[in-house]
Amino acid sequence: KIVEGEKLRKKLHNTILELKGNIRVFCRVRPLLSNDAVSAETKVISFPTSTEAQGRGIDMIQNGQKQSFTFDKVFMPEASQEDVFVEISQLVQSALDGYKVCIFAYGQTGSGKTHTMVGKPDSDNQKGLIPRSLEQVFETRQSLQNQGWNYKMQVSMLEIYNETIRDLLSTSNSSSFDASRPEHVGKQYAIKHDVNGNTHVSDLTIVDVHCYSQVSKLFGLAAESRSVGKTQMNQQSSRSHFVFTLRISGVNESTEQQVQGVLNLIDLAGSERLSKSGATGDRLKETQAINKSLSSLSDVIFALAKKEEHVPFRNSKLTYLLQPCLGGNSKTLMFVNVSPDPPSVGESLCSLRFAARVNACEIGIPRRQTSLRPIDSRLSIG
Ligand code: ADP
Ligand code: MG
Repeated sequence: KIVEGEKLRKKLHNTILELKGNIRVFCRVRPLLSNDAVSAETKVISFPTSTEAQGRGIDMIQNGQKQSFTFDKVFMPEASQEDVFVEISQLVQSALDGYKVCIFAYGQTGSGKTHTMVGKPDSDNQKGLIPRSLEQVFETRQSLQNQGWNYKMQVSMLEIYNETIRDLLSTSNSSSFDASRPEHVGKQYAIKHDVNGNTHVSDLTIVDVHCYSQVSKLFGLAAESRSVGKTQMNQQSSRSHFVFTLRISGVNESTEQQVQGVLNLIDLAGSERLSKSGATGDRLKETQAINKSLSSLSDVIFALAKKEEHVPFRNSKLTYLLQPCLGGNSKTLMFVNVSPDPPSVGESLCSLRFAARVNACEIGIPRRQTSLRPIDSRLSIG
């Protein structure tokens, strides 16, 4: 009887892990910067030292009151880009196994989202998650070739601003962009999902990539598009969502096995609430669009978690774009980025509360039976 009970308990435990497996929340606190208003007396963040909360807990102090949060992982300010990547490399790897993966960075402007996702792509120490992920994917592809796997990789980069998609790899984004020429502005970027769960965005530039240096050049192009957009459309990068997508399709020559994975890496727009009274005109519209898409994202996550029949994917461009990659046979990780600057304590608390709600979710949708059966850990990168 005891053995039976133990077996049952283990089975239950595994089931829970399986259900919980689809969504993770990591918190990252950036270091203090020289412009921050902190001094020893105004420290607003501390980290619990008890064994069970270490590396997973964070305490926020507001008006002398302490509030504690726990996540799957908490990165302290000292954590390097490498430290962070080590924790997600397995997830990146699963895209090569045919999973659809989304990694988000959520937090107010200045909390370290772009540093986490992009960092300085040309610096060995400072490069962020996107460049590191790509390096790993190309390295692994090389090794898997010896086992008969042929992979095709395609990259797209887009920005969603005011519920409008902007293709960051389009050549019409260059400095010769002319808003009065219809061919430059008339693109619809209509989003469609096919029966196989593949997403198509009309007019979006998709580039076949074979090595990291190629992707690195694309980053340059995208960065230029973003800065051109900023001045021409009076838009700031912190007010738009940046979506990097790597589509991976693999075929094994000898077994004819096929996999189709997607890796979406998303630098979300700043989550800060602008005071409604202060914002007017474009600024107000912008804020409403951001609020709408961030709240749609959480609505979708919560609806998936509660296994609701209706998941409101269509309520925003971002969630509709990512629909096949959220829920189902997919894996989601959210970084909640937090600033230790005392004036940010209110926003930081909002971010942590939001993330804590996401973390409490157990997205437990039965795995869909597809022909693209994922293969587990054919190769693990240490
Ligand atoms: P966000 O994208 O959320 O607006 P950024 O990533 O631009 O924030 O970060 C704001 C500033 O803080 C930048 O100057 C960035 O270089 C710096 N920063 C953020 N996170 C870190 C970190 N972990 N280590 C060092 N500097 C960081
Ligand atoms: Mg940013």
